Amino acid sequence: VASRAGIVVTGTEVLTGRVSDRNGPWLAEQLRVTGVDVAQVVVVGDRPADLQSALGFLAGSGVDLIVTSGGLGPTADDLTAEVVGAFQGRPSAVDPELERHITGIVDRLTAGRGWHLDPEATAAGTRKQALVPAGAHVLAPVGTAPGLIVPPAEGRSGPPVVVLPGPPRELQPMWPTALTDPLVQAALDGRAELRQETLRLWGTPESELAATLRRHEQALEGLEITTCLRDGELEIVTRFGAAAQPAYDRFAALIAASYPDTLFSPDGRTIDALVADELLAGKLTIATAESCTAGLLAGRLTDRPGSSAYVLGGLVVYSNEAKAELAGVPMALIERVGAVSAEVAEALARGAAARLGADIGVGITGIAGPDGGTPDKPVGLVHFCVSGLGRTLPRRVRLPGSRADVRKRAVVVALHLVRELLAGAPEG
Ligand code: ATP
Ligand code: MG
Repeated sequence: VASRAGIVVTGTEVLTGRVSDRNGPWLAEQLRVTGVDVAQVVVVGDRPADLQSALGFLAGSGVDLIVTSGGLGPTADDLTAEVVGAFQGRPSAVDPELERHITGIVDRLTAGRGWHLDPEATAAGTRKQALVPAGAHVLAPVGTAPGLIVPPAEGRSGPPVVVLPGPPRELQPMWPTALTDPLVQAALDGRAELRQETLRLWGTPESELAATLRRHEQALEGLEITTCLRDGELEIVTRFGAAAQPAYDRFAALIAASYPDTLFSPDGRTIDALVADELLAGKLTIATAESCTAGLLAGRLTDRPGSSAYVLGGLVVYSNEAKAELAGVPMALIERVGAVSAEVAEALARGAAARLGADIGVGITGIAGPDGGTPDKPVGLVHFCVSGLGRTLPRRVRLPGSRADVRKRAVVVALHLVRELLAGAPEG
């Protein structure tokens, strides 16, 4: 069986959603690739009692390892090291060598930035960061905060706790060292490899997939299958031990046979990656003219490094005048059929391609809401057109949700339409 771990993410800023958690998911994925199943991720504020009860909960649930993030700073609200030390029955004391080491780092940092700090306050902060529970292993700081590995005190049982700093750029480089520490290796001894594969479908309802899974329940023995509907895409993530690889191969073949038209990613690649790979492979360029998404598609296309090889640019054409002037949509057409129409979407796609000299043009025009809907053209109605390579793919979709949902979903629909054009799929 696989080892299990629990994660405690600390920080009032994460608990309240001011900062969204990047450490819990990152650690969970790192643990998974080493064969450790994450049982829980618990988020707590910067309150010692809450951290302590989270540790108690995870230890009580029988995990083999606990990892914490955050609360290692020099300020008074950063209390993780002391709380973990007390939890494991190991009182903390200043480690003089570590204190000198951190003093050196802080001196270099402040000199480099030209800061003048109160030496006494700095020394107190440094002393606090050099507090080490008796018998803990120290992980060298990446920033100023050292990490810790704190086993339970002699004669006590329970998992060791790996204590890591909150900033992801400090936590991530520290992880490999933590993982190879003998205390951690001993706790994770005997773990089995845990594999994970992803399939993505576009246009198959979750209920239909659920029925397929039920019909083949017996053949899926040994596979942990989770499905998730995300921005209209149906994502199937399967986790399994090495012995279940043949079962997974049969499952992947079953999905491919059952959903030949909607399985767009048999290898887990995202729609973004698929579109980028196809454009690169065909040495093709793309340009957009966006009304209701106002540049979100161009932004998403250029999220990927190297996108300058195929993205030429995007026109943000929110007003009718902008549609006419920037994308060359005839004002008479807009007046006749309305800005949200198949005709204008096509004119935007052609205009984007023509004005920017791209192989493929994308036009998007719709009603994001919450106001501005009519019985004819309700909120969520979006017209798309992708044109190029001698073809024109129009699409009319009514998207659910809030203004933000409609705009985000529209970008995904547009990406899938681009993929269809690139794949040479029939118009539809
Ligand atoms: P320091 O206070 O010295 O920066 P720390 O270990 O005490 O280090 P925190 O105070 O908890 O870390 O967090 C510092 C900053 O790191 C936060 O303001 C936040 O921007 C970022 N951070 C912390 N935890 C997370 C997290 N789970 N996900 C994303 N960012 C985080
Ligand atoms: Mg903090």
